[in-house]
Amino acid sequence: MISEEQNDQAIDQRDHSHQSQLASVGQIAAGIAHEVRNPLTAVKGFLQLLKEKSPDSYIDVAEMELNHALMTLENLLQVSKPDKEDESLCSFKISAELESILYLFQDQLYRVNLITDFQDVDSAIIYGKKNQLKKAFFNLFKNAFEAIPKQGAITVKQYIEDHNVHIVIQDTGVGIPKEKFPFIGTPFFTTKEDGTGMGLAQVFTVIYQHGGKIEVDSEENKGTTFHLIIPSEMVYKKDGVIHLDIDSSKGITLKEFFLNNRDIFEQQLLLEAVNVKEKIKEIHTIGSINLLENAHKLVLYIIENRRHDLMMFAKKEGEAWAKHSLTIAFKLEWIQAIRRVLWDFLYNFDRIQELEVNRDYFYTLERNINELIDQFLNSFFISYTKAKDDILHSHQQLINELTVPIVRFTSYISFLPLVGKVDKNRIKTIKDKVFGQVLQSEAHSFIIDLSKASFSGEAELLSFLKMIDGISMIGCRPIITGVGQKLVEQMMGNNLSFNNRTETYRTVNHALEQYYMKS
Ligand code: ADP
Ligand code: MG
Repeated sequence: MISEEQNDQAIDQRDHSHQSQLASVGQIAAGIAHEVRNPLTAVKGFLQLLKEKSPDSYIDVAEMELNHALMTLENLLQVSKPDKEDESLCSFKISAELESILYLFQDQLYRVNLITDFQDVDSAIIYGKKNQLKKAFFNLFKNAFEAIPKQGAITVKQYIEDHNVHIVIQDTGVGIPKEKFPFIGTPFFTTKEDGTGMGLAQVFTVIYQHGGKIEVDSEENKGTTFHLIIPSEMVYKKDGVIHLDIDSSKGITLKEFFLNNRDIFEQQLLLEAVNVKEKIKEIHTIGSINLLENAHKLVLYIIENRRHDLMMFAKKEGEAWAKHSLTIAFKLEWIQAIRRVLWDFLYNFDRIQELEVNRDYFYTLERNINELIDQFLNSFFISYTKAKDDILHSHQQLINELTVPIVRFTSYISFLPLVGKVDKNRIKTIKDKVFGQVLQSEAHSFIIDLSKASFSGEAELLSFLKMIDGISMIGCRPIITGVGQKLVEQMMGNNLSFNNRTETYRTVNHALEQYYMKS
C-alpha cells in the first residue's frame, strides 16, 4: 500500500515534471512563433502593396486575419520567451508589488471582496525579474476576478517558510473541472470566449524560471487556489556573503565546525541546488546514491586536503552515475552548490573565529580549495565518460555476438546464416566464433549462407576467404550458399575465388539435399 507521504511525493514529482514540461513546451512554441512570424510579416507588406495597386475588400479581410495571427504569435512569444527584453535581475519586496497590481482591479471591488494578509513583509524579498513576475501576478489576479461571475471574494496571502516566499491566491469563483486540470498552463488552453489561454502559460514559465513551484487546488463551483512558492532573495542573491545563523564555540577546528553544523550545511545546500532538491529521493532510489551523505564526504576530503581519497571517490561516483544513467546536469548543479556553501561556511568560520589571516593566506586557501573541487569534477567526468564508453562497447560486443548465430544441424554439420553488412569489427567476431565452433565440435561440414549478407570492402572479403581457408585447414569442409550477383561481381572484380576444397550451392536446401544424398 502507498502511504500518504509517498503519495504526496508522487504528486509533488509529477507536478515538477509537469512544470518543466510546460516550460519546454513554451520554448518550442517560442521557436515556432519566431519562425512563422517573419514570413507572415513579409506577406503583410505585400498585401499592403497589393491594396495600393488594386483595392479590394477581400484584401482587407485577409489583412485583418493576418493581423490577428500576428497578434497571437506576438502573445505566444511574450509568454514563452519572457526573456525577450532580457530583463535584469533585482531585489524587490513582493508585498509592495502585489498591492500595486491589486490596485489595478479597484473597479471590481464593488462586487468582489478583496482580503489581503501579508506577513513577513520586510523579509519577503525576491531576487529576480520584477516585471515578469508582476505580469504573472497580474495574470493570476485577472483570472481570479474573471472566475467570479457575480459576487464573491478573493484572498491573497503572503508569508515566508524555509527561505521561500509563499503567495496564495484564493477565489470563490467557478473553479476548474477535474478533467481540465492537465491542460492548466498549456498555451492556448482557455474556456473563455475571448480568452487567449496565454496567461497561465506565462505564469508557469516565469515561476519555473525563478526556481519556484505552483500548486493548484480547485473545486467546481467552490473556487480555486493558486499556491506559489518562490525562493527568496536569500537563496538567489549570489553576490555578497551569507551571514549564517551558526552557533559555534571559539577555538574549534574547521573540521569540527563542519561536523557540528551538519544540519545547517544540508539546509543551505538544498536551498542552493533548487533543481537537484527535487531529485534527491529519485537518485537515491535509482542508484542508491545518497547525495547529502556524499556532499559531507566531499567537503571533509577537501578541508582535510585528502587528495587521494577525493580522486578515488570521484572515480567511484563517475562510475555510479554512468551505470544508472543519472542526469549529469544534476551532478554539476550539486557540485556547484557544494562549492558555494563551502565558501559560505569558510566565511562564517572566519567571522566567528576571528582568525588573524593575511591576504596571502586567503588566496592560497582559495587556490587549494577550488583546485581540489576542479580535480574532483575532472576525475568524475573522466571516469563517467570511460564507464559510459565501456557500457557502449559491451553493448556493441553483445550485438556482434548475437549477429553470428551458429546453429548445429547435426553433430557433424554446423550452419551460420550471415545477415547484414560484414564490416571490420564484425569480421573479427565472426572469425572467433566460427573457429571456436569448428574446433570444439566434431563438425566435418560448415555451411555459411551469404544470401542476406554483404561485405563492406575488399579487406573484409579477403578476411572472410582466409577464414574459409582456415576451416579447410582444420579439416572441416566449407560449404557456401546463397552467393548473389553482387558478391560474384565483387569477387571477380578483385580476382578472388573460394579455395578448391569449398563447395558452393545455390541455397541451403540444395546443400543439405546433396549431403543426405551422399550419406
Ligand atoms: P485565459 O484567461 O485567456 O482563458 P489563462 O491561461 O489565463 O487564459 O487561463 C486558462 C484557463 O484556465 C481559463 O480559461 C480558465 O478556464 C482556467 N482558469 C485559470 N484560472 C482560473 C481560476 N482562478 N478559476 C477558474 N478557472 C481558471
Ligand atoms: Mg487569463
